[in-house]
Amino acid sequence: LTTADLIEEHRICVCVRKRPLNKKELTMKDLDVITIPSKDVVMVHEPKQKVDLTRFLENQTFRFDYTFDDSTTNEMVYRFTARPLVETIFERGMATCFAYGQTGSGKTHTMGGDFSGKNQDCAKGVYALAARDVFVMLKKPNHKKLDLQVYATFFEIYSGKVFDLLNHKTKLRVLEDGKQQVQVVGLQEKDVKCTEDVLKLIEIGNSCRTSGQTSANAHSSRSHAVFQIILRRKGKMHGKFSLIDLAGNERGADTSSADRQTRLEGAEINKSLLALKECIRALGLNKPHTPFRASKLTQVLRDSFIGENSRTCMIATISPGMTSCENTLNTLRYNQKPASS
Ligand code: ADP
Ligand code: MG
Repeated sequence: LTTADLIEEHRICVCVRKRPLNKKELTMKDLDVITIPSKDVVMVHEPKQKVDLTRFLENQTFRFDYTFDDSTTNEMVYRFTARPLVETIFERGMATCFAYGQTGSGKTHTMGGDFSGKNQDCAKGVYALAARDVFVMLKKPNHKKLDLQVYATFFEIYSGKVFDLLNHKTKLRVLEDGKQQVQVVGLQEKDVKCTEDVLKLIEIGNSCRTSGQTSANAHSSRSHAVFQIILRRKGKMHGKFSLIDLAGNERGADTSSADRQTRLEGAEINKSLLALKECIRALGLNKPHTPFRASKLTQVLRDSFIGENSRTCMIATISPGMTSCENTLNTLRYNQKPASS
């Protein structure tokens, strides 16, 4: 089976990416407790203690469509996850690709890429790689004659509110009309002609996302970033690819935080990630009813969860360290596929 076949069959593809131990973890002598014994299996070796204080490892095995170890490049991850979905939008479909995981596990590295210059070989992330292939596909004779135009949007959902990252973080309203069509009013759709145009927008959006924040990571870990590539034919939507860098899923501590705002934000994130899981489940099981209204995130992605030709890919990113074990297990459990009925 090829990736395309797998996605064709299930409409959802779920993958796991493990990042390498970072400097801080190495300095702390954190243990790498994750192994990837084959291309679709991930194992967690959780250190435990018996009542008599003898130590042992509890091994837990999880199976996914694909599992990527810490030597995998963004290009490789992209090839097996988002790449097949580029075809979908040329076939009048709706595609979504999510990065899900705890803060620091590699969501932004995977989606937005790393422009710091630290990782030369994988500077481009899934946003940029998908855009590159959209422009390659556009040149194919059968697509050329469709005369498609490409547009991009980039926005953020923070505490249930939508902000345009390509328009100075303008706060936007989300409206639903009588036909259940959801609209983000005033969202800027930028005309893009080549990959470089897209890279510029990613850079603008990223700097807008983190500007004015005392701690960049603190803010970005609490918001969902949505980057979209839209194909239009004579003004009408032909296909849409939404690429989402989700808020960090580690929210346990928030619920007992003394700060009211922190508690509310944490609750909002929990709610949206739960709603997302339900919507993806509905899509995978071909259920007629999708509970998209349960959160702003699922509401704005409504048209991606319904319809004949909707495809979704989830990239679960995990940290390798023992200190992250609990979050890693939560991430793996969240992403386990429902047993098909
Ligand atoms: P998140 O967005 O999930 O909070 P980041 O993508 O910001 O996490 O990653 C945290 C740090 O780890 C960054 O410095 C990033 O460059 C690094 N990193 C993440 N994934 C990888 C990887 N696969 N290979 C090398 N470095 C990585
Ligand atoms: Mg991030």
